Amino acid sequence: MTLHSILRGHPRVVDALLSGELQGTGHHAYLFTGPVGVGKRTTAFALFAFVNCRSEERLTARRACGVCRSCVRIERLLADDTVDAPPDLLWLRPEGRQIKIAQVRKLLTVVPYPPIESRVRVVVVDPADRLGDEAANALLKTLEEPPRSTRFVLITSRPANVLTTIRSRCQRMRFGHLPDDAVREVLLAQNVPADVASQVAPLAEGSVSSALALIDDPVVAARGELIDRLLSIVSRDTVATFAFAQTLAELGGNLPTALTFLSQVHRQALLARVGVAGSYEAPARRLASGLSPESLMRRIDVIEETRTALTEFNVNPRVAVERLALVLTAGPGEEQAVIVARPRAR
Ligand SMILES: [Zn+2]
Repeated sequence: MTLHSILRGHPRVVDALLSGELQGTGHHAYLFTGPVGVGKRTTAFALFAFVNCRSEERLTARRACGVCRSCVRIERLLADDTVDAPPDLLWLRPEGRQIKIAQVRKLLTVVPYPPIESRVRVVVVDPADRLGDEAANALLKTLEEPPRSTRFVLITSRPANVLTTIRSRCQRMRFGHLPDDAVREVLLAQNVPADVASQVAPLAEGSVSSALALIDDPVVAARGELIDRLLSIVSRDTVATFAFAQTLAELGGNLPTALTFLSQVHRQALLARVGVAGSYEAPARRLASGLSPESLMRRIDVIEETRTALTEFNVNPRVAVERLALVLTAGPGEEQAVIVARPRAR
């Protein structure tokens, strides 16, 4: 199930939230920060589910039951975010480009009163970096003197864009990337075929939204072909090496994805080479049989250097991938030598 896969992926955040609620030491306003697509909003909804679950079991099991009326409504909302949220879950989203002052004013007319049908009202501001200054300032006073039965959850992947005065009134909860198996479980719950889910989950860097975007990415479909082609190049075959570089360069905007799976297969090979038990795909096993751990680490470093050079320093992609292709097709232990020697294409 989506909810529990995501919660298992963020054990420290979830434990802190539950302990705060159960021991009465919880904060009234949280700032959830972390990458896009890792489950921050889902966790905010889960907080609502937990504090309002009608089953007594929630106290011992430390989780919402999933079957009471309150839980069922949250499950429905998680499956389809166009259905109405429960009346005590106030979900503030941008109307147009920003969350507007009028939306916050409307919220402030409700918040002083007790929740309508739940123990605790939860106000989710998502994303908090889209609060206009006026709207943020209007919210500030309520964050300073919050009603007892209300929790605020402000969500952002760009905390620097949230007013300092707002940030300072919230307890920050840092979300990391989800583990690959959690991403895979969430995809399966969303009816993605198992083979596709297994293929894209390790490429998604812990983000469900990245994984969903990758499903439609043509370069993902060509992954096996690209890796097989790399492995077929005999070292010092300069023509084949530069043709491979050209193929990479022609990927354009898809190049970062290709770098991710080149990195992934070399990391798998490294694990296999140093004897970590696991089921490795054939190309990883082949790389592991021909290269030392040092060679594999050097290759992984150069893949990551290439990624950084392309994304942060805006270097000429052609030059960057030629250097990369030379390293990835070098003989065992010759990675450093090809960088220094820089053979020419013609
Ligand atoms: Zn329940």
